[in-house]
Amino acid sequence: MSKEKGTLFIVSAPSGAGKSSLIAALMQRFNLDDSLRLSVSHTTREPRPGETNHVSYHFVSNEEFEALIARNAFYEYAKVFDHYYGTSKEIVEEWINDGKDVFLDIDWQGARLIREQSPYAKSIFILPPSLEELQNRLKKRGQDSDEVIKKRMEKAKREISHYNEYDYLIVNDVFDESVLALRSIVLAHRFELKRQSNKHKQLLDAMLEGYSK
Ligand code: 5GP
Repeated sequence: MSKEKGTLFIVSAPSGAGKSSLIAALMQRFNLDDSLRLSVSHTTREPRPGETNHVSYHFVSNEEFEALIARNAFYEYAKVFDHYYGTSKEIVEEWINDGKDVFLDIDWQGARLIREQSPYAKSIFILPPSLEELQNRLKKRGQDSDEVIKKRMEKAKREISHYNEYDYLIVNDVFDESVLALRSIVLAHRFELKRQSNKHKQLLDAMLEGYSK
């Protein structure tokens, strides 16, 4: 019997919504059965302090990224704020075929491309609890000019304007509740009848043996 494939979960949010921390908490708290994976994207942007190559991203040059595009190595890629970002096809497909549920932390453009290619992917949009809170989070220790903060707010609103293309929406007000919401979405999907009846076919056949309506 062929192995049940995993599901792609796309997560998008404006920067400042807490998306990366939520996904990290989900992985740490709820991956005891090793059934979840987080895709590490390639990007041409510079690493930020605290980021590690091959953990946060695979940091590559423009030339390297374009060579990967030419090799058809990406599931999807997009230019986000002047830099390339892309999801490696090979590793994601390997995980999905191995039955893992794979999280993609990507923007609305990537989400659109994945939906077109993988109709069974599920997409989740994360919102910060309020505009004020978003602004506070984008202010980052008060070192940036009003102009920079205004630009960040505009970028955030551009991402938010795509919220209604997603299957699920989580307002990240109470962090722990948002982590549970993410976990619930994964579980609900795993328990869909179609997936369970494939998984438990032998059990169902045995239970219904000899029975006719
Ligand atoms: P940051 O530079 O702040 O890490 O990410 C900027 C934006 O790029 C975020 O919205 C993030 O979700 C998105 N992003 C990260 N990796 C990918 C990717 O592989 N594909 C696409 N389309 N977007 C990505």
